[in-house]
Amino acid sequence: MGTGLDNESLAGVLSSLHEFAKRELSDEKLLEWDRTDVCPVDVVRRMYGDELGIQLLFVPSEYGGLGGSTFDVYRTCEAMARVDLGVATSVLATFLGSDPISVGGTPEQRERWLGRIASEGALVAYGATEPSAGSDLGALKTTATPVEEGGQVVGYKLNGSKQWISNGGIADFTTVLANTPKGPSWFVVEKGTAGFSAGRQEEKHGIRLSNTAPLTLEDVYVEADRLIGGVEGQGLVQAQAVFGYTRVMVASFGLGAGWGALDRAIPYSKDRVQGGGPLSEKQGYTHKLVIPRIAWLEAGRSYIEETAELIDAAEGLQGQYNTEGAIAKYVSSEAGNAAAEAAIQALGGYGYVHEYMVEKFKRDVRITTIYEGTSEILEMTIARDRWQLHMKTRGAYYADRAKELDSLHARRPDVGAALAAVALRAAGEVMERCRVGRLTRHQHVLLRLGELIARAECAASFARRAARALDGALHEKADRRFEPPVLAALSRVFAREAALGVAHEGARWVVGAGGVAPGEVESLERAVGTRVALAGQTGLIEDMDRVADALYERARS
Ligand SMILES: Cc1cc2nc3c(=O)[nH]c(=O)nc-3n(C[C@H](O)[C@H](O)[C@H](O)COP(=O)(O)OP(=O)(O)OC[C@H]3O[C@@H](n4cnc5c(N)ncnc54)[C@H](O)[C@@H]3O)c2cc1C
Repeated sequence: MGTGLDNESLAGVLSSLHEFAKRELSDEKLLEWDRTDVCPVDVVRRMYGDELGIQLLFVPSEYGGLGGSTFDVYRTCEAMARVDLGVATSVLATFLGSDPISVGGTPEQRERWLGRIASEGALVAYGATEPSAGSDLGALKTTATPVEEGGQVVGYKLNGSKQWISNGGIADFTTVLANTPKGPSWFVVEKGTAGFSAGRQEEKHGIRLSNTAPLTLEDVYVEADRLIGGVEGQGLVQAQAVFGYTRVMVASFGLGAGWGALDRAIPYSKDRVQGGGPLSEKQGYTHKLVIPRIAWLEAGRSYIEETAELIDAAEGLQGQYNTEGAIAKYVSSEAGNAAAEAAIQALGGYGYVHEYMVEKFKRDVRITTIYEGTSEILEMTIARDRWQLHMKTRGAYYADRAKELDSLHARRPDVGAALAAVALRAAGEVMERCRVGRLTRHQHVLLRLGELIARAECAASFARRAARALDGALHEKADRRFEPPVLAALSRVFAREAALGVAHEGARWVVGAGGVAPGEVESLERAVGTRVALAGQTGLIEDMDRVADALYERARS
């Protein structure tokens, strides 16, 4: 992907976005559009215009864009989600819609369609999902029938329907996935094409500023040059090619919306006096509703930053780091939901009403565990991929990763690396027990493995990030909200949770699926490291105190 913008230009983009949001997307306006279920199309179009040109970030420079890197896109997506996830979704939809063209388009198609996004600010939609083809896209029913003249295919007739399409009712053009005789393929369909229509905007739980609509295609004729890449049957490969990248985008949405909600709760807790003092001074409040939520979000960020670096260092996007993208999205979107939920609780009754915004964050962030791969599909993706690594290395994969963490711990004993290693070893041990007992024949066990693996890998990633912060070696565009020692404390908080959680939950599913005889439970506990993980909880409260002190700018005695 390349290095993208220089640091100063990224700061410029983020600051323009901030200014634009301050001017055009105030809380009052957002709440009114949310209440009346209005997509502010003119504001979205202005975001694509001279004022902001947000779409330029993901258009390559040869087509008139800025050619942003994955890291640039992560930082920008997080910032957008802190403002409004509905508006951010409109930008995501344009990116997703342009994806098949970027990945599989001919040079002429890229020039034409990516050029239109860059120069005209064209809004795009991505038409993959259908009423009966959601997670399982292979079940799609929309057809593209070749139209021949003199033995040559001159065009296609498209028939079918699409469901839940972001920007569906407002896009200037849509990329539509349809079955050709040689398999699923992408087509560009322009607004106004005969037979192509959008239904009523869906009335949604959240992201109500985003236009989501069903699409109908009735004998829609498109010229042959609208078949992306000019070859039939490449659609699913093209769709998969950028999952790593697009999932980093949605991961950043979860991160941004979660932080957006917490950043309302944190100042509130300083001002709100109950029980003789501000809530920020009540440990039972901060250590339940704030600190663990931050640790989880920042674990997600660690994985996002590592994945973004990997993608940017890679040659192309073709299918690389899809599992890493899945882990980043799974953890960050679940963390974002949990953070927003905690933020409502943190504001009490005020959290439950619209005015204070946190309940809107909660409704909005809900979508991040559904679109671009539901959490359950991601659990399956993660488990299957890492299962293969486990088998290929004869069970050594996580043992080797754990050794790397042990070495890190020897050099940096304060970043939680030893406990992250416990989590990784536990994940490896649980996988091995599942292999021996053939326990993944139970789909639930397979998916729980996905969850445990994601947690263990995020703990490892967080420890590496905390060490880099202490070494002064973070990526130049990395988030620097926390001072390195505080980040290290957060990493330790998360590593403790991961180690105990993976060991305990992993053992639970092994036992639950009949993987051990009753008399062997104790040896299983030893093998997955439950006791070690429990002993590692020493110092947990002190670390949480340390983070709370930093967060609330209190001097430590
Ligand atoms: C607001 C919004 C915007 C969207 N924008 C777009 C867009 O722009 N373009 C587009 O193409 N799509 C879009 N989508 C569609 C979205 O990607 C799908 O909703 C999503 O992929 C899930 O598909 P589904 O809704 O059919 O649910 P299903 O696939 O039917 O899943 C229902 C439930 O079953 C679970 N499940 C599914 N399969 C399995 C399995 N094999 N094993 C275990 N559990 C399983 C899922 O995790 C989920 O919990 C959007 C959706 C929404 C709600």
